[in-house]
Parts: sequence; C-alpha cells; structure tokens
Amino acid sequence: MTRDEILEIIEDENIHFFRLQFVDIFGFMKNVALPKSQIGKALDGNIMFDGSSIDGFVRINESDMYLKPDYNTFAVMPWRSRNGVAAARIICDVYKHDNTPFEGCPRVNLKRVLAEAKELGYTMNVGTEAEFFLFEQDEKGLPTTVTNDVAGYFSLDPEDKANDCRREIIETLEQMGFEIEASHHEVSEGQHEINFKYADALTAADNTVTFKWVVKSIAQKYKLHATFMPKPIFGINGSGMHTNQSLFNLDGTNAFFDESDPLQLSKVAYAYIAGALKGARGFAAVTNPLVNSYKRLVPGYEAPVYAAWSASNRSALIRIPASRGLSTRTEIRCPDPTCNPYLAFAMMLNSGLDGVKNNLTPPPEVKKDIFKMTAAEMVEANISVMPGSLKEAIDELKANPISRPTLGDHIYEKYVAAKEKEWDSYRIAVTDWEIREYLSVY
Ligand code: GLN
Ligand code: MG
Ligand code: MG
Ligand code: MG
Repeated sequence: MTRDEILEIIEDENIHFFRLQFVDIFGFMKNVALPKSQIGKALDGNIMFDGSSIDGFVRINESDMYLKPDYNTFAVMPWRSRNGVAAARIICDVYKHDNTPFEGCPRVNLKRVLAEAKELGYTMNVGTEAEFFLFEQDEKGLPTTVTNDVAGYFSLDPEDKANDCRREIIETLEQMGFEIEASHHEVSEGQHEINFKYADALTAADNTVTFKWVVKSIAQKYKLHATFMPKPIFGINGSGMHTNQSLFNLDGTNAFFDESDPLQLSKVAYAYIAGALKGARGFAAVTNPLVNSYKRLVPGYEAPVYAAWSASNRSALIRIPASRGLSTRTEIRCPDPTCNPYLAFAMMLNSGLDGVKNNLTPPPEVKKDIFKMTAAEMVEANISVMPGSLKEAIDELKANPISRPTLGDHIYEKYVAAKEKEWDSYRIAVTDWEIREYLSVY
C-alpha cells in the first residue's frame, strides 16, 4: 500500500481516529492514538513517544523514540467504527531519536534476522494456530475460568454467546484482510481455534498479534473474556500455538520439497528439523515464556513434551503435515500463544538454519507413541525432554549459543532479566496447591 492509497481510504471511509501500534519485547501490543489532523505526520514517521515508559525499552535519558509506520499493515478496525466515523491502525517499527532502527524493537530485530536468512538464500513462511479460551465475566466484568459451554447448561439464553462471538471474530478478521481457512471448537470446553492463511514471517508475526487483539476485543463486546493463557485449567487441554514454517528459495520454490525422497522432504528440510530439535530446549523460554507455559507441556494433553519429529505422530514436537509441493512444511508444536511471535519466529528460524548451515541430520522419525516409550528407548532414539519449568528454560536459553545473536544484545539482556524476575516472584509465592497439600496434614 502507498501513502496516497492510505490517504484515499482515510477520506473514503471517514477515518477520524488513527492508532500507531508497536510491540514490546514481551509481545504486548502498544498504541498511540491520534486524531485525523495528525495522520500526515504519522505516515511520515514523525510521531514521537516516550520509550522509557515501555517495559524493557530504554532508559529515561534516551527516551524519545519515533514510530515508523509500515504501510502494508494499514487496516480499518471494524469494531471501533460508530455512526459513520471509522478508526484505523498501522503497525510501526520503533526508531531511535537519531533516526536509526531501535535494536530493542522485536519487529526491527525480526527484520534483521530475516535479512540474514536471505543472505543464505532463504525466505521464511509461517502459519500460526493460536488456540484460546472464551470465559464468562463476573458481575463486575472481571474474568472467571467458567466457560461459556459450561455456563450454557444453566443459562436460558437461546443462543450460544461463544458461537456468535467466534463468528464475529471471523467476520472482523476478514474485513481486516485476513483469509480465514477454518475455525473449530477445540478439545476443551470453551476452547477455540481459528486458522488463517500463512504468510511471510514478518506479516505472519503482525497477523498473529493482530489476531490476538481482535479476539480479545470482540470477546469483550460479548461480555466474554478471551485468554491465550497456555494452561488456564488443570486437567484439560491447554492452548498451544502450533507454528507451521517452511523455507523458500529466492526463486519462489519451496526449499523443503523434494519429490525424489521417500517422504518427499529435501535435505534442507531434514537439516532444519535437526536444527530445530537440537535448539528446542534452548528456545523454549521464548516460545513458551511463562511460568504457566510449562504446565501445558506435560503428558496427556496433546502438547509436546519430548523433542522428536514425525510425519504423522501428534505427540511429537515437530510434525510434518501431509501436504507437499509449495505447502511442504514443518509444524513445530511447542510454542504457546503468549510468546512474542517476532522473537519466537527469529529463534526457531535460526535454530533451523543452524541445522542447515552445519548439515545436521535428524534422528530417525519416531513412529511410536512417545508417551508409551521407556526412558531407555528414549535415550536409544536420541529424544530429549522439553524443559519442565521456566527456570530450566531460562538456563537453557542462556546456554544456547544462538540466543544472543538472534535476539540481539538489547533484547537478550532485558528478556533474560525480566524472565528471571518472573521466575523468582513465582518461586517465593505460596500457592493454592501448597495450602491444599500441606496445611491440614502438617
Ligand atoms: N491444545 C493442544 C496443545 O496444547 C493442541 C490440540 C490440537 O490442536 N490438536 O498444543
Ligand atoms: Mg490446528
Ligand atoms: Mg488445535
Ligand atoms: Mg496443529
């Protein structure tokens, strides 16, 4: 999209409000809202904001940052339009006051990592499957963990709020230019999944944060609370964000496809799988960033626990979906939707490329149900276990030589420090489990 095209839409659609969006290092979407009079200045990248008020950005004395809009991300926000007056958003890169890209901006960082991959001859395509729960709100509008499905048994509502809500989410996304491929109720009560078309990695990261924002905003309209928390309820499936990824050659062919191979996978695909398996324990702190993330990665809930790959087996960390040709891809199943997609894609890409650069060979495909294998069989098959806690994952991230160059010094330092603090705050908390298990017994 060009500047003129955007200005034309602004006139045609009567857009009076304009949001400049960017993401912080934890993947939270931030906004600067502007009235129509500022649109020219905004499109020229001359809007300044105070970076010191954003977690993990900059110190107070270097706090003036610029927002440089990416015109391709311009989109009207259908649910914010009222009485013929519309609102739109545009996603930005953060620049420093000297007008150079800010290395602490996850979007700027992903662009750098993608440019390095291009030097090697590859572009990356990504499709995410972010699962979420729709929960009831209480009388005060605060989130509960009561699902609409369960509440539905008692309510007299003739219609299921969640169905209407999911439908409006899809319609909204379509109006914003998403191509929706499927949507379905997931395994757990109140759990949903909406699939949209894959894109180049940068667009896919933009789409993923936009998707989460739309889901939350529309749910609010229905007085529902949408959450991407990985494991909100013990004992039922949590929410993952399976990340389908492939490398393309610069001539537009899929670098993972090779007709002559028994599985029709290329050497590059096998090497990428090998690199991703090798790196998984070391990127989990980014793809699975919360204390709660590790309560999802346990046996019995369709979430991966072991670093293995398979062409069919859904208990594996990496699955190869059946489609071939241009759609040949790996589905990495550990990420959850609380990750920052800009950082998560960068870490997974560079782990896979580590395999490609070093010609790594993956261990053989695992066809058995891994959950039924003995410890000895796992050692035999070269299968490692994903970290069991955020603490273990942070230690692995720090030990992983790929982490710092992939995240850049700024993001790496801030990210590790913040996650260590998060772990420590959890470590010293007294939880419900402890009260239940110990209070009356001891
Ligand atoms: N919810 C499962 C997970 O945590 C995935 C279920 C599925 O999509 N088959 O990854
Ligand atoms: Mg799916
Ligand atoms: Mg699913
Ligand atoms: Mg999937």
